[in-house]
Amino acid sequence: MTAAQIFTNLSTWQVMIWGLLFFSALYLAGGLGMTALTRFLQKHGIGQVLDTRPLKPDQLRREWRQSFYSILVFGLGMIVPWGFVQLGWAHFAVNPGGWQIAIEIGVLLIWNDVHFWITHRLLHTTWFIRFHGDHHRSVVVTPWSTYSFHPLEAMMLGNIILWPMVVHDFAFWSLAAVPGLSLILNSIGHSNYDFFPSVGLRHPLAASRRHHLHHASPAGNYGFALAFMDRIMRSEADPLSVRPPARQP
Ligand SMILES: [Zn+2]
Ligand SMILES: [Zn+2]
Repeated sequence: MTAAQIFTNLSTWQVMIWGLLFFSALYLAGGLGMTALTRFLQKHGIGQVLDTRPLKPDQLRREWRQSFYSILVFGLGMIVPWGFVQLGWAHFAVNPGGWQIAIEIGVLLIWNDVHFWITHRLLHTTWFIRFHGDHHRSVVVTPWSTYSFHPLEAMMLGNIILWPMVVHDFAFWSLAAVPGLSLILNSIGHSNYDFFPSVGLRHPLAASRRHHLHHASPAGNYGFALAFMDRIMRSEADPLSVRPPARQP
């Protein structure tokens, strides 16, 4: 039996339990992995911490609490794409080849940036900012801020794969790769670490610097991993508007 058939044959409860386990594992792996990676690089003098100000008291506990609710939204929400398949609104590709999966993942990653920019820009409007403010309580970001959203924001971001599913029969593994790759990119964005200080701000390898600027001065840089949406929509943040972080003694 293929993975697509196993997923389709799960019961309602099984989908939700697997969803909760899947997103909990992703969040833990991203938080622990990125913390370990940046500590290792710092110890070996590769790259640099972006903002050296101390975290707010209780910040990590708040990020974990908010992320717990997002995991509930994402995990239990697996019932929605599963339901789309049950209802016949979406289908998985039959016997997809390696190239098909690779191309689909590339397209989905670009869609991920487009979807995130639109949702994120909407979240910065007067009505929605009250919800998005929960994420921006982290001024100095940590790899644990990745899922630290208001539940409404988690729902708005979590519908990313539903749109492509109804317009094309994707391979199961292409769709399953999206949350994993997205979490890796999200952990980079919230790493508070400049991995490649020599590259320009628009470079794909400067994603952590761009998202750090967005948290330090939330006007502009609404994109996710790539800079193209902010360039097209003319919403790039002005690095000069951010005060240099106070150096620790
Ligand atoms: Zn953020
Ligand atoms: Zn924002």
